[in-house]
Amino acid sequence: MKYDFLIVGAGLFGAAFAHEAKKKGKSCLVIDRRDHIGGNVYTEEIDGIQVHKYGAHIFHTSNRKIWEYVNQFAEFNQYVNAPIAVYKDELYNLPFNMNTFSKMWNIRTPEEAKEIIAKQIANLDIQEPQNLEEQALSLVGRDVYEKLIKGYTEKQWGRDCKELPAFIIKRLPLRFTYDNNYFNDRYQGIPIGGYTRLVERMLEHIPVRLNTDFFTLEDVAYDRLIFTGQIDEYYRYQFGPLQYRSVYFETERLECENYQGNAVVNYTQREVPYTRIIEHKHFEFGKQPVTIISREYSREWEPGVEPYYPVNNEENDGLYERYRQLGKAEERVVFGGRLGQYKYYDMDKVLEAALAAAEQYL
Ligand code: UDP
Repeated sequence: MKYDFLIVGAGLFGAAFAHEAKKKGKSCLVIDRRDHIGGNVYTEEIDGIQVHKYGAHIFHTSNRKIWEYVNQFAEFNQYVNAPIAVYKDELYNLPFNMNTFSKMWNIRTPEEAKEIIAKQIANLDIQEPQNLEEQALSLVGRDVYEKLIKGYTEKQWGRDCKELPAFIIKRLPLRFTYDNNYFNDRYQGIPIGGYTRLVERMLEHIPVRLNTDFFTLEDVAYDRLIFTGQIDEYYRYQFGPLQYRSVYFETERLECENYQGNAVVNYTQREVPYTRIIEHKHFEFGKQPVTIISREYSREWEPGVEPYYPVNNEENDGLYERYRQLGKAEERVVFGGRLGQYKYYDMDKVLEAALAAAEQYL
């Protein structure tokens, strides 16, 4: 038979597109290289705990339509992300807010905090921040930058803060109130039962072939291709490879009920080799007698490891643009998701993009 759509990648983009296509009566085949669906949002239950196998995923959005969309597939809990940052023997709240500042400088009021920050950047004369370092300094001053941003960012991205785009740090809220919510979005939570089940429900009644590589696929006929893998790989790296960051995890099961008291603890010091430790049960208020933790390490992507983050500096964005132009010229191919569009997308933005593509192509 001939499918209306071949969808490469069973992550959020592919699953949402497939769901919409199916609803409109189109036939789809979803394939994925891995042995499971869900892409990097995949969760696996261990000892009754949903383990985020490819790193912590906290769903948050301000788009009511998207919130309602995901709530069709799962009920969400009331988790609110409020990470802790550890620098040497000091402990701070994230994102950068009055709790962070009062601990850093032993002060109480927003006015005091603003004054200190202004003093710390007075001699820098930053007009329009040109890179992550300038952006961070101009927002939070020297102390917070040195203790909570510089080391963490250089570990996470493997690049000097001066070589990274400013927008990366603007992902984080900066507040002069005592509010540790890591996101400004109206809606937030973790799907009860895990992300894998959520994606399963999106893919209900849709054929999925796992352990199936698009590049060696034979004998599948289709009208249109939805490709959510790396766009540079699709084009055989003909202009050269795009850069990505990868992460890997050291996951441990501990015979203790509560290891770190929070789902996310960041280690912002350069010398600690991992960036953060995730204690999965705290995403769902777990009461199990054991716990699962994952130390997260960052590394440069190379063929054979999983890509996680596009490195959206000027050079890579320029290269991506060349691949995008090739893509645009193709009638039968649509690129989607973090890898297909080389974009540091959050989950809600991936879904927005998938629904927009569904509008356009269905
Ligand atoms: N960041 C930081 N210190 C922290 C946490 C984050 O400097 O303790 C910076 C870092 O540059 C990171 C960026 O903020 O890459 C975005 O962080 P986010 O938590 O959004 O990253 P993700 O969860 O997507 O890996």
